[in-house]
Amino acid sequence: MPTQTKSTLDGSTWDWIIVGSGFGGSVAAMRLSEKGYRVLVLEQGRRFQKEDFAKSNWNLRRWLWKPALACRGILRMSFLRHITVLSGVGVGGGSLVYANTLPVPGSTFFKDPEWGDLADWKSELKPHFQTALSMLGATTVPFSTPADDALAAIGKDLGLKDQHRPVQVGVFFGKENEEVSDPYFDGKGPPRTGCTKCGACMVGCRVGAKNTLDFNYLYFAEKNGTAVHADTKVTAVRQEKTKEFIVEASVRQTWRRNQKIKLTAKRVVMAGGVLGTLSLLLKMRSEKNGLPKLSSQLGYSVRTNCESLTGVQSLQKDVDHSKGVAIGSILHIDEHSHVEPVRYPSGSGFFRLLMAPHASGTNSWQRIMGALGKVLCQPIAWTRAYLTSNWAKRTVILLYMESHLETLRFKLNPRGKLQSTTDGAKAPRGNLPKADEISNRMAKKINGVVGALFTQTLLGTPTTAHILGGCTMGKDAQSGVIDTNHEAFGHPGLYILDGSTISANPGVNPALTITALAERAMSRLE
Ligand SMILES: Cc1cc2nc3c(=O)[nH]c(=O)nc-3n(C[C@H](O)[C@H](O)[C@H](O)COP(=O)(O)OP(=O)(O)OC[C@H]3O[C@@H](n4cnc5c(N)ncnc54)[C@H](O)[C@@H]3O)c2cc1C
Ligand code: SF4
Repeated sequence: MPTQTKSTLDGSTWDWIIVGSGFGGSVAAMRLSEKGYRVLVLEQGRRFQKEDFAKSNWNLRRWLWKPALACRGILRMSFLRHITVLSGVGVGGGSLVYANTLPVPGSTFFKDPEWGDLADWKSELKPHFQTALSMLGATTVPFSTPADDALAAIGKDLGLKDQHRPVQVGVFFGKENEEVSDPYFDGKGPPRTGCTKCGACMVGCRVGAKNTLDFNYLYFAEKNGTAVHADTKVTAVRQEKTKEFIVEASVRQTWRRNQKIKLTAKRVVMAGGVLGTLSLLLKMRSEKNGLPKLSSQLGYSVRTNCESLTGVQSLQKDVDHSKGVAIGSILHIDEHSHVEPVRYPSGSGFFRLLMAPHASGTNSWQRIMGALGKVLCQPIAWTRAYLTSNWAKRTVILLYMESHLETLRFKLNPRGKLQSTTDGAKAPRGNLPKADEISNRMAKKINGVVGALFTQTLLGTPTTAHILGGCTMGKDAQSGVIDTNHEAFGHPGLYILDGSTISANPGVNPALTITALAERAMSRLE
């Protein structure tokens, strides 16, 4: 692996520069380096060794990403007008903080009118889903927890007994806490350690069992010679008349000082995730700023999985919902809706601070009155819920997802920050009756109360961990930002390979789909 110091990076020239090291960026880094290119990956977050992750999410400096407050962790929370977005930061991007779940979307995703006429996606992507599953070490969760059993019982009550299943996750289930040599890549990969079912996947795996991207795609990319620079935020990308790209970045030196660097690349991959990619491309889309020919569709059709996140907190003292992997099972309610129980590890109760009683209603007044009503009807239950000593042990988070078309437009405000607008489209809602029904059923099963993030109760703003779209595919620049090879219309050599290119709602957790699409795009390059 080349060991370039920050100062020697300045002024260097590369075949490819990749902005961001999440799912799309890591696939690109490995596949391009296999083809023999000189590749540089720039990542704004830190590089984590397993012992660097927080022990609980109360250690905000290691868990949250808020550099202005000296928090350089793995989870970024962005509060926008219509949506609260959770996303990952660091070498490995969202894989560091994600819940490992790797579902293949249902058939409707591939035929969605938003992109279905551009290719026969189902058959084209099939081999790439297989490669992605194998690279990420996907395996079916081999055990069930009380939360999974409660969801199975809800499925049975709804006549959906066969629709509750363990999920596929990117986790190594060897002997607990025992390190073995690489079990995935014929011994050529890094050693792995057996999962201890500690439940900390979304705080960071301190065991070495989670198959984060630095254990697969990025590992091989670096082995092939790719240079991966952490703590380096790309601030500008311009295309010159020669068609080459100038990339400017800010390298963190100390907590107060950054070094500005300028690099040249023949081609660039934007893989900063929806927030990172859109912030940068919207800023660069002008004659003065260097990417003037980007499509006017940039920032449109931002979507989510139409999620609802609720926390069902049991009032029983003898339960422990914190043990297991972050997500162990899924209930397919119908073709369009799915729900998964999610956990944090014992001692990780940060979200309790942001929780309010969950109440449905189409306006704030209804929801606030509903929430107050719940507290007044069950004052002891809610007092116990707030005073509980170990929130994670008592709480089952329910992640409910629907595959409907609800979109936002992201643009920059006068201060250059991303803002959401509805622009006439139907925005993702916080009020999902089916999600409420499942949450209430779960509350009955585990003797609990239902909470949600205060932004959802007060403002009706849903929370998403699956932000997608904004650089969608089209047949030309009038209908999309990229073509079906992921190359940006108007700027040959500029590729976009991350969640922003997902052009329809997969209805399920999207990381595998992002990986499969990136595999397909890279397989089409010489
Ligand atoms: C708590 C949580 C749980 C989740 N669980 C699941 C799950 O179980 N299954 C699933 O499928 N999905 C899950 N997701 C979603 C999944 O993590 C994302 O969909 C996925 O990571 C998006 O991949 P990406 O390639 O778009 O970019 P990301 O993985 O988001 O990576 C983008 C990277 O680019 C970096 N970057 C951005 N801008 C710049 C810049 N200007 N310069 C340098 N670097 C930059 C960022 O720091 C980041 O590291 C979860 C997400 C969260 C937050
Ligand atoms: S449950 Fe614990 S050991 Fe297993 S993958 Fe998650 S964080 Fe790692």
